[in-house]
Amino acid sequence: MLTLPAFAWSRPATLEDALALLAADPQGCLPVAGGTDAVPNLKHRLHTPRRIVHLGALAELRGVRESGGAFELGALVTLRELAAHPGLRASHPALATAAGLVASPQVRAMGTLGGNLCLDTRCTYYNQSFFWREALGFCLKKDGTVCHVVPQGKRCVAAHSSDVAPVLLALGAEVEIASASGRRRLEADAFFVGDGVHNTVLAPGELVTRVTVPASARGLVSAYRKLRPRASIDFPMLSVAVAARGSAARVESLRVVVGALGARPKLVGGLDPLVAGRPLDAERIAAVAAVALQQCRPLTNIPYDADWRHAMVPVQVSRALRELWTEGPA
Ligand SMILES: Cc1cc2nc3c(=O)[nH]c(=O)nc-3n(C[C@H](O)[C@H](O)[C@H](O)COP(=O)(O)OP(=O)(O)OC[C@H]3O[C@@H](n4cnc5c(N)ncnc54)[C@H](O)[C@@H]3O)c2cc1C
Ligand code: SF4
Repeated sequence: MLTLPAFAWSRPATLEDALALLAADPQGCLPVAGGTDAVPNLKHRLHTPRRIVHLGALAELRGVRESGGAFELGALVTLRELAAHPGLRASHPALATAAGLVASPQVRAMGTLGGNLCLDTRCTYYNQSFFWREALGFCLKKDGTVCHVVPQGKRCVAAHSSDVAPVLLALGAEVEIASASGRRRLEADAFFVGDGVHNTVLAPGELVTRVTVPASARGLVSAYRKLRPRASIDFPMLSVAVAARGSAARVESLRVVVGALGARPKLVGGLDPLVAGRPLDAERIAAVAAVALQQCRPLTNIPYDADWRHAMVPVQVSRALRELWTEGPA
């Protein structure tokens, strides 16, 4: 049986109190929301904090609000709430779909949007017990000096496996971050960095407080596809989020984001010149899928064949694109 390490525990009543606690020991504190990822990681000694700061009592981080066409999503909104919200389901169905495909009903009831964005990266050589990792000499993400996936590499390439993050990139969402010294907002795309040791720009002592899907995202059509071994519980082996403006007869703009391959979601580049002003017909879909295939390079960071995951990129991109202007999965 895996046990929890010893730590101090706080449950602040206000955001101000939470940020003050974090500021008092930024390196030693671990914020925890639903705990669905943090608790297994604590048991594996992947996190060894001096203090857990539980965010569950922070009322200002709860709730979905619609204002002026934008959706303001509190960091503590659960995945179950996101999946069921009627306004989101109508305006941004890919976001509700992605939240509804995370893990299982129990995990979605506890797991939060903030925790999903800040989800630690995953790897065959990392999501293991202390004893397992020690026997292998650890790795550079935690306690070691080498990467077992890319032995000559200097960067961790563990997979970012959040279902919701690729959709937020596709919709051009913004993330609000708070610390004891102030607040900042940035695009979801700028929130992630391509190093699996710590794959976000969050500094110690900072919290994600809310996510905004801007009014400018209204009118986008969107779709999300998730490839996983079992159609329940499993993390994605590959995920694809697409969002477009226009119509099937004349596309104005298109975003394709591929997730679960590397340390951050991949925004496929150079698509607008390919599709803008043209119909999204079979020829255009095949061209977009080919660009995605070319720009994505899965590694053996999770226990599924990298070549097969690569071959599935154009398949899933094509299926997601065909869903855009139809009534459901293609
Ligand atoms: C069996 C199982 C299957 C899973 N399958 C999936 C899946 O298919 N897809 C998927 O996306 N996820 C999956 N997960 C991971 C996880 O359940 C979800 O990502 C969930 O949304 C995490 O939210 P949480 O509130 O529980 O995060 P927590 O576990 O509380 O925290 C996760 C991380 O985020 C940080 N954090 C949490 N909130 C904040 C905040 N507001 N600001 C700053 N940092 C914060 C924590 O410090 C921690 O490092 C699975 C987990 C399990 C146990
Ligand atoms: S990708 Fe390399 S450094 Fe990162 S967790 Fe896996 S083995 Fe460790």
